[in-house]
Amino acid sequence: MASSKLVLLSPLQGWSAPLEETPDPVFSGRMMGDGVVIDPTGNTLHAPCAGTLIIVAASRHAVTLRADNGAEILLHVGIDTVGLAGEGFELHVRAGQRVEAGDRLITFDLDLLAQRAKSLMTPVLVTDSTAFSISRRSDNCSLRVGEFLMEVLAASDGESAPSAAPQQGIVERRVLVELEHGIHARPAATLAAVAKKLAADVNIVFGDRKAKAKSPVALMSLGVRKGDHIVIQASGADAESAVAAVEQAIAGGRDLHAAAAMLAATGGTASAAPARRQTSADPAGGAGSAAIGSAAAGSTAVGSAAAGGTAVGRAEPGAPAARAAGAALPSANTSAPGAAGALKGVVASRGLGVGTAFQFARAVIAVPEHGAGISQEAEALERARDSARTDLERTVNSGNTTAREIAEAHLALIDDPELVDGARALIDKGKSAGFAWRAVLRDGIEQLRALNDPRMAERADDLLDLETRVLSALSGTSTAGPVFPPETILIANELLPSQLVALDNAKLAGICLAAGGATSHVSIIAAAMDIPTIVAAGPEALRVPTGTTVILDAEAGWLYIDPPRMKVDLARSQLADKRQRRVAEQLAAQRECRTSDGTRIEVFANVGSEAEAHAAVRNGAEGSGLLRTEFLFLERTAPPDETEQLQQYQQIATALEGRPLTIRTLDIGGDKPIPYLPLPHEENPALGLRGVRTSLWRPDLLRIQLRAILRVRPVSQCRILLPMITDAGEIRAVRAMIDELRREEGREDPIAVGAMIETPASAVMADLIARDADFISVGTNDLTQYTLAMDRGHSELAARLDALHPAVLRLIAKVVNAGKSHDRVVAICGGLASDPVAVPILIGLGVHELSVVPAVIPQLKALISTLNIDDCAALANTALERETAEAVRALTLQCVSGLDATGRARE
Ligand code: PEP
Ligand code: MG
Repeated sequence: MASSKLVLLSPLQGWSAPLEETPDPVFSGRMMGDGVVIDPTGNTLHAPCAGTLIIVAASRHAVTLRADNGAEILLHVGIDTVGLAGEGFELHVRAGQRVEAGDRLITFDLDLLAQRAKSLMTPVLVTDSTAFSISRRSDNCSLRVGEFLMEVLAASDGESAPSAAPQQGIVERRVLVELEHGIHARPAATLAAVAKKLAADVNIVFGDRKAKAKSPVALMSLGVRKGDHIVIQASGADAESAVAAVEQAIAGGRDLHAAAAMLAATGGTASAAPARRQTSADPAGGAGSAAIGSAAAGSTAVGSAAAGGTAVGRAEPGAPAARAAGAALPSANTSAPGAAGALKGVVASRGLGVGTAFQFARAVIAVPEHGAGISQEAEALERARDSARTDLERTVNSGNTTAREIAEAHLALIDDPELVDGARALIDKGKSAGFAWRAVLRDGIEQLRALNDPRMAERADDLLDLETRVLSALSGTSTAGPVFPPETILIANELLPSQLVALDNAKLAGICLAAGGATSHVSIIAAAMDIPTIVAAGPEALRVPTGTTVILDAEAGWLYIDPPRMKVDLARSQLADKRQRRVAEQLAAQRECRTSDGTRIEVFANVGSEAEAHAAVRNGAEGSGLLRTEFLFLERTAPPDETEQLQQYQQIATALEGRPLTIRTLDIGGDKPIPYLPLPHEENPALGLRGVRTSLWRPDLLRIQLRAILRVRPVSQCRILLPMITDAGEIRAVRAMIDELRREEGREDPIAVGAMIETPASAVMADLIARDADFISVGTNDLTQYTLAMDRGHSELAARLDALHPAVLRLIAKVVNAGKSHDRVVAICGGLASDPVAVPILIGLGVHELSVVPAVIPQLKALISTLNIDDCAALANTALERETAEAVRALTLQCVSGLDATGRARE
């Protein structure tokens, strides 16, 4: 290592300050390294010296530069800027690039950061303070780019390059990681549990980074993926055997439980907790599957930045909705959050809600920075960890699978030596127990988020939960889920499906999300739960104070903040009328559905549970055109076996009282990852293993599901639907498996197998697909996202992701014609079918079967009874010639008298 002095030049124009002034304990406590913080007045970050960029954060807010003397310099623009997910940052460099002092690295939008980031303060740090020290620095002075910032000295015996030759007494071996999902939560927790029992000091080295094997957080933070090479280093008495056992486990991609056993045999005993999570029923091979369920309720306030701006009114394709075209709205004020006014969003689940706003965010537990004394604080932390551990152990023994596995994961983290030692070190410096615990966890969270890997982001949520648990124990507050009064309109940035289902929905009058997409997973669940919901309302929504009276008009997509008394009274009386009318509408909806000229239109329901199947029947569904089976099995950590699946399908079939049930095979991947089915890392999961592709990739899971479906009684009630078909060969492959299973079971009874048209490829090839499919169902949510090349979860694009786009309609027309020429039923089961504005056009295109959100069935049936088939055909033909979705909507509102000005079916 070079021992020369390194001079760092100011990378920014601004004001330099001591690191202690950074408003983030991770930096002010020097947990990331030593250096200077700059309050910028300029908007371009430059290289402070020559070197190579070893890390460029995916969110473009930070880089790490390795100088020629080996020192690693972290430049982190602003505080909490990772949450902006790259918004406001422009990168001029890429990882691995060599730069010279003064080269431009990042340009950023100072105004945006001033509004959205916690602080603009930009730490410039030397990250390895054991190998380097700072001899001089500029503190409290104005700086221009290129002026002296600090002088860094290398320690003479520094060892900052972990890939250098092994030191004496160290055994090391380079191995290939074949664990399916790399070193993620479960392997990290298991390896750490093993390492903790050893006398040897074991480290894992990956590239230029090194992690103590005893620390699951440090191991996860390495970001090791399948196919990467790592170096296992061990020193101490059992170093040889420790390295050998870990190598064998990792290189072979074997169950790490076996490694634990091996290590136990060579002197250590593996911890029982992680071993419990390796169940024999885990077909993913144990080591490769994530053990931890998604973050528990209460973690809303983290994650990506909210959508900026407000959206134009529109009906969305994921749930029934209507455009605000020409709607008579009071003057909207979208720029005065918190005051009387209104925010515009995109409808995700139709309806009207009146109540009080409740901001749903992770509770912030205040902690004092300074401790009351080292021993008191150390003891307080121990007591709090003990208490949190006892709670977690109780949950582990409670029997609820998901909660148990989350608790087990938290148990593995609560004793992470990196976290515990880090917190103790801060306590030794006079910090309070709470401050110290939060600081070390936030550091781990930042590292995990910087990996820009969705699975690691979930682990970051686990750390946030753990932070809250221990801080709650310290402060004596409760960790129970949010408690809100009846008639609450819940406001959050984003919600996880698990958070939504954990809420007390009897008290929810509506949901308003600042971010999110109308056809995202959580929106579909909200629609199924019949909770009026708007999404993409913009960050202003987060500033509406809890307790404010609000009206959520999830028909036209508005949140009215503190509206005049008269408007509230009017909304309440509309709601009361609506409830009264509902019973009559449901009764009318039990009748067969026909257009005014007598054409039969079948209206089915999309369901995801037994409760929704009951709701479907109550609302007049003629069956289910889509059972999203993945919704039954999302919030768990191991796949359901055949018996459990059969039980669920049978309950739903029974709830439908003999009406047809269309069971879609698991549609996972993309925006619906499943913890127990780790998929290979994908740069773009929406274009990766999804739907039937995943099923054919894991035929073992498909076989179990098909067998369970074939065992439903009577099986003639069921049809099988295959998601994300791209070509007919996929249908033939699944049909061959079904036939084989039927032969094995000795069953004669045939079962219909349908194809979902969700990709432009399958729409264009529908004539060939129709030959192999018994029926066809168009999934407009995905068909729209893939046709328009707009992510269905993208909040900025939410208002433009409209399935009434003529490009999508033309594809649907093609599919309907293909179905006709092969005498196949073509149904629509995507969100478009639940949109009253779309229904006349779909019927005009020749669609005679719709599968929709249960709650809208009565209204849709009433609308359909007013339509004339020839008028619908003429409307559809004209719509195909329009240029935009807006034009199609305007046309329909003009032509169809059964729709009011907001696009909802007249009641
Ligand atoms: C669709 O894509 O329209 C669909 C019905 O499937 P999902 O929304 O479950 O992806
Ligand atoms: Mg789909």
